[in-house]
Amino acid sequence: MSLLDNVKVFFDQAANKLSIDAHVRQMLEEPDRVIEVKIAGTEGGVPKVFKGYRVQHNNARGPYKGGLRYHPTVEMDEVIALAALMTWKCSLLNIPYGGGKGGVSCDPTKMTKEELEQVSRAFIRALMPNIGPTVDIPAPDVNTDGQVMAWMVDEATQIAGESMLPLLTGKPVSMGGSLGRAESTGYGVAITGIEALKKIGIEPKGATAAVQGFGKVGSWAAERLHKMGVKVVAVSDISGGYYCKDGLDIPDLMKYTATSKGHLIEGYSAPGITKITNEELLTLDVDLLCPCAMENQIDTEIAKRVRAKVISEGANGPVTADADAILSERGVVVIPDILANAGGVTVSYFEWVQNFQHISWTFDEVINKLDGMMIGCLNDVWEVAKSEKCSLRTAAFILAIKRVVDAMKLTGRI
Ligand code: GLU
Repeated sequence: MSLLDNVKVFFDQAANKLSIDAHVRQMLEEPDRVIEVKIAGTEGGVPKVFKGYRVQHNNARGPYKGGLRYHPTVEMDEVIALAALMTWKCSLLNIPYGGGKGGVSCDPTKMTKEELEQVSRAFIRALMPNIGPTVDIPAPDVNTDGQVMAWMVDEATQIAGESMLPLLTGKPVSMGGSLGRAESTGYGVAITGIEALKKIGIEPKGATAAVQGFGKVGSWAAERLHKMGVKVVAVSDISGGYYCKDGLDIPDLMKYTATSKGHLIEGYSAPGITKITNEELLTLDVDLLCPCAMENQIDTEIAKRVRAKVISEGANGPVTADADAILSERGVVVIPDILANAGGVTVSYFEWVQNFQHISWTFDEVINKLDGMMIGCLNDVWEVAKSEKCSLRTAAFILAIKRVVDAMKLTGRI
């Protein structure tokens, strides 16, 4: 099943509980607008015409918001599903945004820095007529970062003839970015995971965790877990994984990936570590599992063998709908993506607020505010799951859908 099919199943499970009519479901599920653009560029010196996408899913609660990803698998249906997840994520955290998502179908591993800059500038130029600081606000996602945002802000500023800082979030701190934005997604994954462990009676200090993905999300999730006394026994990325029963030295590993080829963990060595595959990592006997890589990583086969007690979804859509049913049946607590990884867009919102107010908050102000919102939201979702006798995912969708339905009714759209 595709990500779009999976998101449909998750949406329907909540919509059924809320007894939402068919025409309203259609209004909520289908995107407001889909944009496809062509981008001339080169990939490893070879001239190419890339396809770029931006999906504006729903803006009943505020401007469209969501990242831009660069990956060879990017296509329209995937972007539609990811844009819908953004609508539910922003609504769940009660931040004043709707949902959007975009991306370019390209392979950044084959591209030089100059080629990436060329594509990034061309992409934002093509999107400019349809986005804006109070219209649609892109951000980083898979394979895009502060550098990409910096090129885009600059291009947009040149076109508009005025500062376009609040058009994009996830910018470098030296040019309007927020302290804590880099850490935010991973920190949210870690803090919700830790709170869920506590709720099921597991003391986080000394508990064990495995983290799939050691990029922008996974590395910071691992770092925070490590800092809070959780033993991170395994991490992995596309190059493979490492296991250490006494816990990996995460700060040391982060130092290594800061300068390693492609920022991969490949080639790292330390006493007591052994190599493991991504599949082995997902089925390790740990308390907490954080899939922070790509979608559809935990399928039915893996779900039957998962031994973690809690899963905190750092990636968007890492568990398929069929796998989700198996995990639920087996009593595994799954903190859904729209909650677990919402730290990123929450601090994007803080960044946007700071840009409009021309102020900057301290790192501690950002992280304390973020923690408060993430823990508060987890508590709300936990209560709804209890009262509705459903999974945390369905509970999260119920809360998120309700707010959007309210806004759609108030605006007369439904
Ligand atoms: N790409 C991130 C996400 O999937 C962050 C989006 C944003 O900051 O707008 O939530």
